[in-house]
Amino acid sequence: MRKKIVAGNWKMNKNLQEGVALAKELNEKLTADAPKCDVVICTPFIHLASVANILNPELIGLGAEDCANKEKGAYTGEVSAEMVKSTGAQYVILGHSERRAYYGETPEILREKVNLALANGLEVIFCIGEVLEEREANRQNEVVKAQLEDSLFDLTAEQFSHIILAYEPVWAIGTGKTATSDQAEEMHAFIRQTIADKFGAEAAENVSILYGGSCKSSNAKELFSKPDVDGGLIGGAALQADDFKGIIDAWK
Ligand code: 13P
Repeated sequence: MRKKIVAGNWKMNKNLQEGVALAKELNEKLTADAPKCDVVICTPFIHLASVANILNPELIGLGAEDCANKEKGAYTGEVSAEMVKSTGAQYVILGHSERRAYYGETPEILREKVNLALANGLEVIFCIGEVLEEREANRQNEVVKAQLEDSLFDLTAEQFSHIILAYEPVWAIGTGKTATSDQAEEMHAFIRQTIADKFGAEAAENVSILYGGSCKSSNAKELFSKPDVDGGLIGGAALQADDFKGIIDAWK
């Protein structure tokens, strides 16, 4: 059975002290009341080593929000997949729409990042999703399929088994405008079929596909009730332990 996952993406929101405090609070809450799904928090690079020391790895996984597309060397300001792994992190988000839109991340760059992340033993949370104009032109399936093909279709089935997909319609991110559970299910089923066509039925059955975009405790249960929605990638609602726990509890 594929994993149910609730992952948080803190984005650029917490300083070190705030992040450490949030990780502690979340770890305490989940120690007192164990989750019924896998829980991951993805933090800025600066938090990783400190947060790794706080989290009970049996309860909460840790990931970065990005990594470099180069292995090592003279790349000022970059953080490699190997460096991420050395902090104790097990996951990395790649292909987030904010990185694609604001930092010019192309399918080629993402291919390089995915390969380096996998080579360094990280599980990749790979984000895909259409912008509003594409949805309004009913082009969402073709856009998402191209994102999958362009960055993931060179992988072997073994490599693909370390990929978690996150469907994040860009128009739903941080807007308070969630996709309906039917819209999410329709896309997730399409994504799973696309994966089946390329990597086979077993790979498609096993891959977790998360929904992201204004997911909160009030709508998580409805979204997660859909057969192809295996959890969520959470932005704003991951910044408070109670809000995030509310989403985790949607699996109960
Ligand atoms: P929000 O939950 O704030 O809409 O963000 C979603 C997201 O981008 C997670 O990666």
